[in-house]
Amino acid sequence: MKALSKLHAREGLWMVNAPVPEIGPDDVLIKINKTGICGTDIHIWNWDDWAQKTVPVPMITGHEFAGEIVEIGRDVQGLELGQRCSGEGHLIGTQSRQSRAGKFHLDPATRGIGVNEQGAFAQYLRLPAFNVVPLPDEISDDIGAILDPLGNAVHTALSFDLIGEDVLITGAGPIGIMAAAVARHAGARHVVITDVNPDRLALASQVADVVPVNVTQESLQDVIPRLKMKQGFDVGMEMSGNQQALDQMVEAMTMGGRIAMLGIPPGKSPVDWSRIVFKAITIKGVYGREIFETWYKMIAMLENGLDVSRVITHRFHVDDFKAGFAAMKSGQSGKVVLDWT
Ligand code: NAD
Ligand code: ZN
Repeated sequence: MKALSKLHAREGLWMVNAPVPEIGPDDVLIKINKTGICGTDIHIWNWDDWAQKTVPVPMITGHEFAGEIVEIGRDVQGLELGQRCSGEGHLIGTQSRQSRAGKFHLDPATRGIGVNEQGAFAQYLRLPAFNVVPLPDEISDDIGAILDPLGNAVHTALSFDLIGEDVLITGAGPIGIMAAAVARHAGARHVVITDVNPDRLALASQVADVVPVNVTQESLQDVIPRLKMKQGFDVGMEMSGNQQALDQMVEAMTMGGRIAMLGIPPGKSPVDWSRIVFKAITIKGVYGREIFETWYKMIAMLENGLDVSRVITHRFHVDDFKAGFAAMKSGQSGKVVLDWT
């Protein structure tokens, strides 16, 4: 089968001919139709410090996918051949306290497909049946291929009550933009999204009813009175991983505000703790998706009018994967989807 592999310990990915994975009794084999390129895949492409420390070579990369089940392990129940699906790319263990309490997304033994285990940038993917998420007919393979990052957005956005709240999202990357759409769908009042990249802010406005703020030109302190907000923001979602954005968020929050942090700072990220204490701010770290509550809520919202389709700005056949990665790296794209059919 065709697969995109981290074949060498240097910049790039390589198209290889790999054996179709063999499945175990509890696995399924998925024929991949579409995959999404993630920021994580760019780290692996670039072979930065994190990738060098984390990813063994060779490794088939990729973890955002949609496809259909073509083989079913002998102990698997409840799935059928031909079922269209996406799936949770975090493979969890069952021994930890967290897993045994049903908090699968908090299992410390989590391993990621396309990072620690062979991934989805391939014509076929082996996946534990437990991780399969069937796709209803109304959800296309394109959207199926971006459910993983949409799940990050949904997990973050639904961390706190949003109904009637004023929401600040820092970072209008694909995940920040989708979180804005989710916040709107969930009933927030104002949804303000910041970035330093005008292309990203323009895309955010196409996907969701947001107030875009370019923080190189305008201060959040000016936006608050412009929107006739009496105080600062009730809920913050940090989705840039940028220190300045985090500082601006803390300043712009109301007393008793709540912040969900998804963005990953490149190193230690100092904050003004006294501001957080005196503003009585709650901070929650968000990792991955809740397994499987996030998937349930996300699919239910998509079936009920949540539309994130315009966040996909580029589509390529996998033979043109280099163009796809170049689009992702340009900073001018939303999600980039590769076609494996
Ligand atoms: P992205 O890099 O595409 O988007 C980040 C955006 O932040 C960019 O548009 C960038 O221009 C913007 N930005 C930079 N400086 C800024 C500033 N000062 N103020 C406001 N915006 C600024 O990333 P993404 O794929 O959308 O992911 C968002 C973040 O979430 C990243 O940090 C990523 O590493 C992280 N992430 C975390 C998890 C998790 O499980 N915690 C999962 C996926 C992604
Ligand atoms: Zn991803």
